[in-house]
Amino acid sequence: MSDCLFCKIAAGEIPSKKLYEDDRLLAFYDIDPKAPTHFLVIPKEHISGAGEITAENSSIVAYAFETIARLAKELGLSSFRVVTNWGEQAGQSVPHLHFHVLAGRDMTWPPG
Ligand code: AMP
Ligand code: ZN
Repeated sequence: MSDCLFCKIAAGEIPSKKLYEDDRLLAFYDIDPKAPTHFLVIPKEHISGAGEITAENSSIVAYAFETIARLAKELGLSSFRVVTNWGEQAGQSVPHLHFHVLAGRDMTWPPG
């Protein structure tokens, strides 16, 4: 989608601090980290968020979690939280599916 921030980051049109990239997804550090380690995993395909996952596009979700587990091991993370916000009330600010991976501090439950 031409006016989507994360599509532009996925296409390399806007720079990011990349952690991992392949033909299907990109992992990069959040510009405003909420934990000592905070990166985002996004599909290169534009999906507006968790509320738009279907039987046709859901394989990328499994692949994103497989990649998250591998990156966490590579970074030596013994504990982490994965978050995805869908819609305004949940706090989604970028309408392109992304998984936050947060680690390196104690977390509270339930989330605010
Ligand atoms: P959400 O509010 O759940 O939609 O998450 C969007 C996330 O994208 C926020 O944590 C922002 O800090 C992050 N973000 C926004 N712009 C950029 C950018 N240019 N590079 C990296 N992270 C970004
Ligand atoms: Zn997009």
